[in-house]
Amino acid sequence: DSVQVSILGLGAMGNALAVALVEAGHATTVWNRSAGKADNLVAQGAQAAATAGDAVRASQLVIACLLDHASVHEVLDPLADELTGRTLINVTTTTPEQSREMAAWAADAGVAYLDGGIMAVPPMIGQPGSSILYSGSAAVFDQYKPLLELWGTSTYFGKDAGLASLYDLALLAGMYVMFAGFMHGAAMVAPAGITAGEFAAMAAPWQSAMTGAFQGFAAVIDGGDYTVEGQQSLQFSNLSDLLAASSGQGISTEVVAMVQRLIQRQIDAGHGEEGFARIIESIKQPV
Ligand code: NDP
Repeated sequence: DSVQVSILGLGAMGNALAVALVEAGHATTVWNRSAGKADNLVAQGAQAAATAGDAVRASQLVIACLLDHASVHEVLDPLADELTGRTLINVTTTTPEQSREMAAWAADAGVAYLDGGIMAVPPMIGQPGSSILYSGSAAVFDQYKPLLELWGTSTYFGKDAGLASLYDLALLAGMYVMFAGFMHGAAMVAPAGITAGEFAAMAAPWQSAMTGAFQGFAAVIDGGDYTVEGQQSLQFSNLSDLLAASSGQGISTEVVAMVQRLIQRQIDAGHGEEGFARIIESIKQPV
C-alpha cells in the first residue's frame, strides 16, 4: 500500500530516509532549504516541493529530519495551521526536553506527533543493524509501523515524547565512553610501537565479548542487592595497575581515573566488599 508522505530536510540522513521510501514505492514529496539535494530523489520518482508549505500540503504524513530543534521550529512554526489535522514524525536529534516541547507544540496545533531517535548512520538506513527509537503517539506508531520498518528496527517506548531521545542519548553516552576506553588503550600501547590498527584487532572482539556482562550487572542492579555472591568486588577492582601503567607510558590517566573515582567513592562509603555494579550508585548521586 503506497503511502503519501512528505519529507522536510534532505541532508545526509533525510536523503537516506527518503531514498528508502521512494524505493519501497511510496508517493514521496521532498523539500530541502537549499537547492540540489533532491536531484537523486527526483530521478528515482519523488516529487520536489518548492516550499516547505507545499510539501506539508502534499501529504497527511510529514517527516522532519532537520539539523536540530531550532531548525524544526524555524521551518514548522509558520506552518502550524497547514499542519493541523496531519501527522508529524520528527526524527531530528533533540534532547528529551526539546522533544516534549515539540510534542506540546504539536498538540496545540492539532497535529498527531511521534518523536524519533535514529541509531544509525545514513548508509545503514534500511540495512541490518539500523535501529530507530520512537515515543509519542502510539496511534501514529502503529499506523505507520510498516513504513518506519523500511528504515530499521522500530521500537516504541511510550507516550512521553521525550523517551526516545532519552534512550538515544543514554545509548550514545555509553558509546562515547566505550570509544574513549578504546582510544585510551590505543594510546597506552602506542609508545611500544603497536599501531592503533593492531590494537583495534584485539580490542574489538574483547569489548564485544565484555558486553556479555551487561545483563549480569543489570540483574544485580534491578535486584537492588549488591552483595549477591559470585561478583567481582569493588575492593578487587583496583585500577591502580592500570593508572601506573598508563603513567609509565607517559599518557594521560584521566579516562581510567574517572572509573577509579567511581569505585573509590563506594569503597569510602563502606561498600568495598560489594559488587562492581555498585559504581552505578556513584553515578546516580551527583558530586
Ligand atoms: P546534515 O547536516 O547533512 O543536514 C542538515 C539538514 O538540515 C539539511 O537538510 C539542512 O538544509 C537542514 N537545515 C539546517 N538548518 C536549517 C534551517 N534553519 N532551516 C531549514 N533547514 C535547515 O545532517 P543529517 O542529515 O546528517 O542529520 C539530520 C538529523 O539526523 C540531525 O538531527 C542528526 O542529528 C540526525 N542524525 C544523523 C545521523 C548521521 O549519522 N548523519 C545519525 C543519527 C541522527 P540545507 O541543505 O539547506 O543546509
